[in-house]
Amino acid sequence: MTLHILNCFTCNARFGNLKTGMVCLLVETNQGLVIVDTGLGLDDYSNPTRFTQFFRVIMDMPFDPNEAAVNQVKRLGYKPEDVRHILLTHMHFDHCSGLADFPHAKVHVHQREYEVFTDKKILHWDEYAYNLRYIAHQPEFVLYDTVDSKWYEFNAIRLPFEPEMYFIPLHGHSHGHCGVAIKTPEGWFFHAGDAGAVYNDQVPAWLIKFVLGPHDQRLRSFMKTHPDVHVVNSHMFLEYFDKEKDRIAS
Ligand SMILES: [Zn+2]
Repeated sequence: MTLHILNCFTCNARFGNLKTGMVCLLVETNQGLVIVDTGLGLDDYSNPTRFTQFFRVIMDMPFDPNEAAVNQVKRLGYKPEDVRHILLTHMHFDHCSGLADFPHAKVHVHQREYEVFTDKKILHWDEYAYNLRYIAHQPEFVLYDTVDSKWYEFNAIRLPFEPEMYFIPLHGHSHGHCGVAIKTPEGWFFHAGDAGAVYNDQVPAWLIKFVLGPHDQRLRSFMKTHPDVHVVNSHMFLEYFDKEKDRIAS
């Protein structure tokens, strides 16, 4: 089993020292390659949506298509069509803009996330980060809403892959947001998506809760009691990727 950690979206604050990339995972499974979140796709680089353009104004983004997941997959020696499945923590632009770069992949996401993404109504500020353009190629979706397992103390939804994987519902940042837990030979890898900022001590807890939802403190406690689990959020400091770039669990 191989798990690559990719940075598919560098996005830095214009002020202060918050320089972050975005954790996307490429995992070899018994069903072919699985990607967890896509980052920005090629179409957003060549023809950015209004929201992406707005983000480029408020944030400092290198906007380098070499960061697109599909280009990183190729550099690792795979073909885009080797990617058979994409798991989405949620459907904000920076997590699913690259779906069309993998037209052969089935897209797995929580049902509530899909419903809110496709209902064309904006009832909450976070939904401005949704754009139906990212599914214009009409990928096949696999939707989940039934908790059927426990993963440690978290409610979990078993995903149909080996190695063992779960969606961990952590709703709040978006309606159907989920983390993804993956069993690796070195122990559990827990991608908690945008449900927290567990390595960030520069941003006050109230602001984290406002933007990312109610789970950050719980995730921090979980990390203390389970130091054997490798926990990440989507937006990690750039040093993390330097440290982990050769991480391959096999
Ligand atoms: Zn988000």
